[in-house]
Amino acid sequence: MQGNVISFNIDHRKLKPGVYLHEVKKIDKNHFVTTFDLRFKCPNHGDYLTPTEVHTIEHVVATFFSEHCIDKLYFGPMGCFTGFYLLLANKHTVKDVISYFPKLDQYWRLLVRKNIVPAKTPLRCGNYKLLDIKAGYKAWHAFYISRKKWGKSYTLIKKNGSLDESKYQDQINYQIALKH
Ligand SMILES: [Zn+2]
Repeated sequence: MQGNVISFNIDHRKLKPGVYLHEVKKIDKNHFVTTFDLRFKCPNHGDYLTPTEVHTIEHVVATFFSEHCIDKLYFGPMGCFTGFYLLLANKHTVKDVISYFPKLDQYWRLLVRKNIVPAKTPLRCGNYKLLDIKAGYKAWHAFYISRKKWGKSYTLIKKNGSLDESKYQDQINYQIALKH
């Protein structure tokens, strides 16, 4: 019983760290929401993000995308502690997302230098002591520098969705991680 939750229909044994196009959801004729899977860790390999890392990455990356990407709708962690979902309004590609990363890494380094985590206050966060800029940056940076190993492309999962296939043709994948 996995229902229609897309991520439950992926073969997680084949997933490696990387950025995946998870879904392009058509809301109506002109509106789409694109969901990306930012997979920091190989699933079920005994190496997971810690709660502090997850929480810090959530604060930093969510803030960054809010400030730099007008289409950002949501960024938040997966319950399995191996990655995050990024939701953007309109259609976007994996390349679009990765193009933000150098600037995001600079943003991280600025925060490390200043020893700041955005919204680290009891007013703005539900567990504000569970944040550590250095630990978060270390986990982010390990993911960021591993990008050379990601391979060319990771893509779409939804076979029956209304994707513009040509736009996404340079990105295969997730497909290989689908159960058949
Ligand atoms: Zn928080």
